Amino acid sequence: MNEKISRFLAERQPETPCLVVDLDVIAENYRALRHYLPLAEVFYAVKANPAAEVVSLLVGLGSNFDAASVPEIDLVLGLGASPDRISFGNTIKKQRDIAWAFERGVRLFAFDSEAELHKLAEAAPGAKVFCRILMTCDGADWPLSRKFGCDLEMAKDLLIQARTLGLDPHGVSFHVGSQQTDLSQWDIAVGKTAMLFTALNEAGIELKMVNIGGGFPARYRSEVSPVNAYADAVMHAMTSHFGNRLPAMIIEPGRSLVGDSGVLQTEIVLISVKSYEDNVRWVYLDVGKFGGLAETMDEAIKYRIRTQYAEGACGPVVIAGPTCDSADILYEKAGYEMPLDLKVGDRIEILSTGAYTTTYSSVGFNGFKPLTAYYI
Ligand SMILES: *Cc1c(COP(=O)(O)O)cnc(C)c1O
Repeated sequence: MNEKISRFLAERQPETPCLVVDLDVIAENYRALRHYLPLAEVFYAVKANPAAEVVSLLVGLGSNFDAASVPEIDLVLGLGASPDRISFGNTIKKQRDIAWAFERGVRLFAFDSEAELHKLAEAAPGAKVFCRILMTCDGADWPLSRKFGCDLEMAKDLLIQARTLGLDPHGVSFHVGSQQTDLSQWDIAVGKTAMLFTALNEAGIELKMVNIGGGFPARYRSEVSPVNAYADAVMHAMTSHFGNRLPAMIIEPGRSLVGDSGVLQTEIVLISVKSYEDNVRWVYLDVGKFGGLAETMDEAIKYRIRTQYAEGACGPVVIAGPTCDSADILYEKAGYEMPLDLKVGDRIEILSTGAYTTTYSSVGFNGFKPLTAYYI
């Protein structure tokens, strides 16, 4: 936990649960990404954290935006980004929402199906479109597979059809899966993309852009490679498959820009055991799956947890949220241990919670308020 956030928590003693986001960390992550991957234009994936403070900061730093819905586009436009800095990157859009975005000047759209292509042709004539290809997302802690993308054969036909329909077949996108820890995945994805470029070339269409999606990590329980290693893997894949005829590149980071900027402080509500013989303590927090920690689903994302007891023995725990739903267990199988000194009323911190938390929190399940966040 950094100085600035510690000081804020110590001085303000905010009510828990609360998320504190250090905007300087986001700015630093943005600059590092630009530094190590200068050839890629950054389109921040707004869904990761759509707070006005975060979006404003990134507008000021020159970022572009990957938006998924009318409200996200409206938000970004309202905070001063021009429409040419927005990609409507969701492959599942209502035609009237496409029309709404097009009227406001958005000209870059994703698709992965024929029906979506027809909507785009109707509602966004002449717009630049890119086709998302299917990935297996092996090695990702939070896969984005199956639901998105189409195979190469279909992608080829659809990109040709895009031109017939009066659209501008602009490029190809993929997402190797969020919190992707296997650096070789980008080589597989870029290899497929390059095959598609060749196939389209033979059909007389010159694609111009590769959208390498998100997937760069935040720092959870396991160590991850630094951003420069990811950037090297991406550039190595690009040059090995495209040689010196590199197309334009787009990257859509979400988690890697904002994840490590946030610390969630929570209070211990209860510590108990289920029987006299049991050595596993149940630790109930005032935040859980319905309070913003939805990515603990299937114990996929394993956050680091900090307590005030740096020394002293630890023992096994199950960690759960405060609601009356038995699905509201954060970690049971992941092997978490916590200090034996831990007591009811202690405040503890869940680290790297700046991405995919605030907007995942429910509107008031069991009467618990949505997660409060401070942007400092
Ligand atoms: C969610 C999403 C991203 C961001 O992914 P991260 O792994 O958080 O960086 C990027 N692109 C698209 C299309 C997405 O849906």
